[in-house]
Amino acid sequence: MALIRDAPGRSLIICAYPSFGYIMKFGKKSKQPGVVALREKGVISLRVKAVAGIISADQLEALAKTAREFGQGDVCTTARLNIEVPGIQQADVPDATAVLSEAGLVLGSTGSSVRSVVACKGTVCRHGCYDTFAMACLLEEQEGGRPLPRKLKIAIAGCPNNCSRVQFNDIGFMGHRYPRFDEDECSRCGACQLVCKEDAIAVDDEGIIFVSDRCIGCGDCIAVCPLDAISIAEEGLTLYLGGRAGRAIRLGTEVPGSIAENDVPALTQRIIAYFAENACDGERFGQMMDRMGEDRVFRELGF
Ligand code: SF4
Ligand code: SF4
Ligand code: SF4
Repeated sequence: MALIRDAPGRSLIICAYPSFGYIMKFGKKSKQPGVVALREKGVISLRVKAVAGIISADQLEALAKTAREFGQGDVCTTARLNIEVPGIQQADVPDATAVLSEAGLVLGSTGSSVRSVVACKGTVCRHGCYDTFAMACLLEEQEGGRPLPRKLKIAIAGCPNNCSRVQFNDIGFMGHRYPRFDEDECSRCGACQLVCKEDAIAVDDEGIIFVSDRCIGCGDCIAVCPLDAISIAEEGLTLYLGGRAGRAIRLGTEVPGSIAENDVPALTQRIIAYFAENACDGERFGQMMDRMGEDRVFRELGF
């Protein structure tokens, strides 16, 4: 290992592990994506990106083969839906990686980069307001693994039930669908009142009372109405910025307004480019927002 001084008070340390390409810069490790050191010296875990948690049957077989041949015979999931094969000797990393790569699996979601996009199962879930799997794959293809001053996490939820906890991510998108009532088509069956958990709807012989302030845009009343008396008044995504979990929890700040589904990829690109340009080394998005001021960040991002 060599220690090289490159500026007063800062050190660039290069470690001689050719198979890993370890580079420690400014005292921080930046290693091969997807290789996670474990407690036992010389033993690692390989992290496979499972965008939106989707893995094919063939890929599961490759993971099983890797775990049997190189690991300890099991795999585990991370909190962000990725899959790890623990218990691999460092010397076996190239061979184990080859088995995974052959099945189209990609190592990653580690280090200072855009981590695997997390999505709820809104694509198949009856509450989903849009195709969350497709959105996650699109964002992953566009931004996944991009090197940044600090890790950046993206999560998307199909509806306000928020199964993917979007406010705990640097960038979070949550689908919504707000109702419009057509009293002429309504039979006063009361199904919409029953399904609304926010008590935003009251149905009586006179008609429907809709308390819009209570409505969170889950869209359940639209889906349950048997007579098409409820249509979509507005649908889109709510954006949250600057959230994080872990040691220092910060809930993402809600950006006013609604984002059209088609605008999400370009907007995400703009937000990440802004982060890359403005964040200090080691700073998460929320820390950058707190340092620069939310108003300024929102204004410069065009919100
Ligand atoms: S957030 Fe909504 S759409 Fe997504 S899984 Fe949960 S209930 Fe379904
Ligand atoms: S969209 Fe959801 S919260 Fe709003 S009125 Fe309908 S059921 Fe209630
Ligand atoms: S579910 Fe539809 S038909 Fe039934 S009360 Fe509500 S709006 Fe009217």
